Amino acid sequence: MYRNFKIVPQIVFGRGCFNQLGDILKPRRTTPDAYMVFVLDDVFKGRPLEGRLPMEKGDMLLPVNVDDEPKTGYIDQLVAQVQAYCPRKPAGVIGIGGGATMDIAKAVSLMLNNPGSAADYQGWDLIKNPAVYHAAVPTLAGTGAEISRTTVLTGPVKKLGINSDFTLFDQIVLDPELLAGVPKDQWFYTGMDCYIHDVESLNGTYLNEFSRAYGEKSLELCRQVFLEDRADKDDKLMMASYFGGMSIAYSQVGACHALSYGLSFVLGVHHGIGCCIAFDYLEEVYPEGVKEFRRMMEKHDIRLPRNLTAKLDEAAMDTMANVALGLVPLWENCFGKDWQRVVTKEWVLELYRRM
Ligand code: NAD
Ligand code: ZN
Repeated sequence: MYRNFKIVPQIVFGRGCFNQLGDILKPRRTTPDAYMVFVLDDVFKGRPLEGRLPMEKGDMLLPVNVDDEPKTGYIDQLVAQVQAYCPRKPAGVIGIGGGATMDIAKAVSLMLNNPGSAADYQGWDLIKNPAVYHAAVPTLAGTGAEISRTTVLTGPVKKLGINSDFTLFDQIVLDPELLAGVPKDQWFYTGMDCYIHDVESLNGTYLNEFSRAYGEKSLELCRQVFLEDRADKDDKLMMASYFGGMSIAYSQVGACHALSYGLSFVLGVHHGIGCCIAFDYLEEVYPEGVKEFRRMMEKHDIRLPRNLTAKLDEAAMDTMANVALGLVPLWENCFGKDWQRVVTKEWVLELYRRM
């Protein structure tokens, strides 16, 4: 059976297109008391972008903090905040920020129309009711969260997304100007998330011509961004992120993402940097990709943290390996149906010990 997957129906791309957001939202304001919720990464509090939000009377500004990756409890708290602001549902939820903020906007829009806690819906296709209209404005490029059907959340017992067709944004606004001012390390780590999506998709057993077409283009753009000096690199990275997301939508990520989930669950390591840390130890799995990745690191003078697991006890190491090994489709994509013959717990633990 082939997957019949949904994609984001409305996309605007271009420098300065953020200025069109007000016009884009206007048709959604169908009654005089309709209001929008602007979920804004709090890094922009007091910065010019906050002043440019097309807020109208009655709209709610909901600043969010993403120092930690989003947790289900935080989503529940934000949903309660919206409900306390107004008993009527908003006409739209707009997420402005990186992958974490976009994921928060997705989750809040879903939970406004579905009862219970966000933790109840971590998994595949558990959501019953469509979300409130939701749109995204990425201010970082690489995760592909703008195009994916998941919102990655850490719950009380697992780190797992709410995966559903309802999770997808109704609208994305891709304005490369918004990437200006991202600190270099963050720009690199989030951008490498995209590069690694491409490598894992293109080297996976789930690959088909659809994924290859998007993955190859995304990889080419990543090379221009990270190995050349291009004035339009932000435009290119934004499209690389989108294409990388489209590539894995019809294939899967692989070993690096599985290992990074373990790092994140036990040590709270963020997604982009976690992928970089794991990737650097996967030369035997992705020889060409890792070699090129190191050239990119060198060009941008990036130094990865080391010895992260040195102080972990056996129980923590065991949890980390179990989290990674639990991500069956990722391993299967990487090594094929009989992946368990290659991927032993001892091998995973050995890799983690070296990190
Ligand atoms: P992020 O959203 O976690 O943000 C990283 C840091 O950059 C934060 O401190 C943020 O405040 C800051 N920031 C954001 N935009 C900025 C800007 N323009 N200028 C200066 N600082 C800025 O980073 P990310 O790498 O984009 O996203 C990682 C998150 O995305 C993780 O929570 C991960 O689980 C999630 N993710 C989701 C998907 C998906 O498909 N839904 C895919 C991959 C990752
Ligand atoms: Zn990723």
